[in-house]
Amino acid sequence: MKAVRMHEFGGPEVLRYEEVTDPELRKDQVLVRIRACAMNHLDLWVRKGLPGVKLPHILGSDLSGEIIAVGEYLTGFAPGQRVLLAPMHFCNHCAKCAAGFENQCPEFTALGNLVDGGNCELIAVAPEFVIPIPEWLDFQQAASVPLVFLTAWHMLVTRAGIRPGQTVLVLGGGSGVGIAAIQIAKLFHARVIATAGDETKLEKVRALGADYGIDHYKQKISHEVRRITEKQGVDIVVEHVGAATWDESMKSLKPGGTIVTCGATTGSNAAFDLRFLFARQLSFLGSYMGTMGELHDVLGHVFAGRVKPVIDRTFPLKDTRAAHEYMEKSLMFGKIVLSI
Ligand SMILES: [Zn+2]
Repeated sequence: MKAVRMHEFGGPEVLRYEEVTDPELRKDQVLVRIRACAMNHLDLWVRKGLPGVKLPHILGSDLSGEIIAVGEYLTGFAPGQRVLLAPMHFCNHCAKCAAGFENQCPEFTALGNLVDGGNCELIAVAPEFVIPIPEWLDFQQAASVPLVFLTAWHMLVTRAGIRPGQTVLVLGGGSGVGIAAIQIAKLFHARVIATAGDETKLEKVRALGADYGIDHYKQKISHEVRRITEKQGVDIVVEHVGAATWDESMKSLKPGGTIVTCGATTGSNAAFDLRFLFARQLSFLGSYMGTMGELHDVLGHVFAGRVKPVIDRTFPLKDTRAAHEYMEKSLMFGKIVLSI
């Protein structure tokens, strides 16, 4: 099959479109012909070099495609079925997996991080990762959903416990997680303030349901939040920006408010005054992807059309390098998808 592999860590130039051996289908696996693979910032981090990644390596966490063969031990799947794959890998037999906390499994990782992903034509996977998709959802849309919607769901619903009527600040509303978080917060009838880096993106976050937009380059986030909320602050901040915004995120919270974070794109060291944390009774929560149960929950809303993926651009698999170069410019609004 054709695949894009990296034999060393580095810039987009390390990505090679090449012929590799087809995966062998075990009797307890499903073989999927991949049709689309959406990109995430994780692809860039892994390409630049993360601990534990074995080379050569195939990137790609978010895949959709068509089943072309089913191992003889399995029932309930058939060739021709259109599916997406859970964007993760876990052992499925430890105490955490048995309890439904797959994202706390010692083996837990994103597909395409510590295990090979979907920048290729074929993948053989265990059946628990395979989820049928509705007819009306095309492969590119389907591939744009799993990782970011799962991440945003786990952050807002499970970790931060969002409730109707709350006010939520979504940083980077135009990012993959931001686009998902805005829509999930609106699903819970929250009031949403989203930040973005220019007026075009601000218009788009408003079109997705954000009630207010803040230009995070031109405006001071906490000042705008105080103005919009009449000095109250927000209940929840959806953080993934890190060092550049942490202080503003803290100052945007109302007493008893919560920051939930899943990333640190601008740097991972944030300092804060502990007195501010305890006196205002704030909560800082970490969040890392989500569980299979949550994936099924959020996909239920996607499949019912209540929340939707947003695609920015599509590239053919052979142009994965150009897709990485494009992503590094951060001009996109929504997902960049490789068509396979
Ligand atoms: Zn496990």
